[in-house]
Amino acid sequence: MSITGISPEVLAKYQPVIGLEVHVQLLTASKAFCGCVNKYGGDPNTHVCPTCLGLPGALPVLNRQAVEFAVLAAKAINCEIRETSVFSRKNYFYPDSPKGYQISQFDKPIAENGFLYVPDASGAPKKIGITRLHMEEDAGKSVHDGFADSVTRTYIDLNRCGTPLVEIVSEPDLRTADEVFEYLTKLKEILLYTGVSDCNMEEGSLRCDANVSVMLKGAKEFGTKAEVKNVNSFRYIRSAVEYEIERQIGVIEEGGRVTQESRLWNNAEGRTYSMRSKEQAHDYRYFPEPDLPVLVVGAAWQEEILKALPELPEARRARMIAEYDLNQQDAMTLTATQTFADQFEFAAKKAKSPKRVANIILSELTSRLNLAELTQEQSPVSMEGVVLAADLLESGDLSSKMLKQLLDSCFATMEDFPAVYEREKPQQISDTSVIEKMVDEVIAANPKQVEQFKGGKRTVAAFFVGQVMKASKGQANPALLNELVVKKLDA
Ligand code: ADP
Ligand code: ZN
Ligand code: MG
Repeated sequence: MSITGISPEVLAKYQPVIGLEVHVQLLTASKAFCGCVNKYGGDPNTHVCPTCLGLPGALPVLNRQAVEFAVLAAKAINCEIRETSVFSRKNYFYPDSPKGYQISQFDKPIAENGFLYVPDASGAPKKIGITRLHMEEDAGKSVHDGFADSVTRTYIDLNRCGTPLVEIVSEPDLRTADEVFEYLTKLKEILLYTGVSDCNMEEGSLRCDANVSVMLKGAKEFGTKAEVKNVNSFRYIRSAVEYEIERQIGVIEEGGRVTQESRLWNNAEGRTYSMRSKEQAHDYRYFPEPDLPVLVVGAAWQEEILKALPELPEARRARMIAEYDLNQQDAMTLTATQTFADQFEFAAKKAKSPKRVANIILSELTSRLNLAELTQEQSPVSMEGVVLAADLLESGDLSSKMLKQLLDSCFATMEDFPAVYEREKPQQISDTSVIEKMVDEVIAANPKQVEQFKGGKRTVAAFFVGQVMKASKGQANPALLNELVVKKLDA
């Protein structure tokens, strides 16, 4: 269903085109060009000094860690690093930018020509070009009393001023709102793996502007783009892009022209609003920053930096699929965060069957965590617990039914699996003669299934195992039971 009531036939005539500009705050200890602490929040205007306040005569000194993080992030998205890059002044007036300019990079950014893959509508990987990754500094914040057109007072907090950023600019290669969502998800995942940012959208450490245009399918030139700003979650960005595509198609269908402008997303109303016109090319009067030398990141330094580049999500998934015999979907879930993947691999290496570890985590633990609204970190069951459970299943000392009961107990009392197992350990029946008797009874009661088995349908054995399990209230030793059922049926 379309959002704006435009018919699917009309929507289908147009090709949307989207390019993203993503700002990412780097997790350095201090700011980009001064020694102030780089930390979210704090009392207003307490994390400031003459340099980040832009006082006359104060000079910037580039933060080495910020450069190293920028190089790491750039490499992780397949960019080429420029040995020599240049900082430039981007001049504009804004109350929360006291210098009257932002130190950024212009025609010689630190990195260019990257890419990453996103799944398209059919799930096939689609390559999205990354034009550049450049370094810059964040501005301060304006804090308003009142809302929108009834703002009564505005305060300036410069704590954020000078926070190191990288801006990652994509090529106009994205075609749908879903691809935008996938691109951002992939990008965030990669950045989190590299550890250069916490990518916390609520605190503004990852921010995204979406450039959207539409053209008639088959047209040779892109349409005029509008830039959607102020969207603070990936889901809202998807909605904002969807809305913006339809709005522009509506404008064109009514004989109008799309204006080049910045638009704000209003989440409550589910629409975008014009913010300021960008009719003329803005003139930032970029020029090389005279207070900073050219930045040289030579081969030796690059090599040193790249030692900190971890195995990235895509590579880790491929390796784990091969190493632990996982399917794509399971590998996706297990590598969702590095910690989660580390935990799984820790358990998978210790346990006799990695496959069972994966199953316990993915089916048993995940569902219980969701139900209890707990995060992975809050799980009562440790990875040692998972290893024990997996090994007990593997050796046949625990049935999957018993495991489920024990895990339920773990979540009921928030105790780890080994403790619960020790206490509630099933009084297993491992006495061959007792189990044999139960198997005989079930076989005698089900002549039809016996015939099926003898007729070659050997999977019917599972039916008998199930019946005996039921009769024994889940306490028959599963390994022994399996063996006896087949032996009796074959006799
Ligand atoms: P500007 O000069 O307005 O900043 P750029 O060419 O630098 O524009 O591109 C900024 C972003 O907009 C990039 O992510 C780019 O991919 C995207 N973009 C450029 N042209 C279009 C277009 N016609 N439609 C959608 N996105 C576009
Ligand atoms: Zn400072
Ligand atoms: Mg630009």
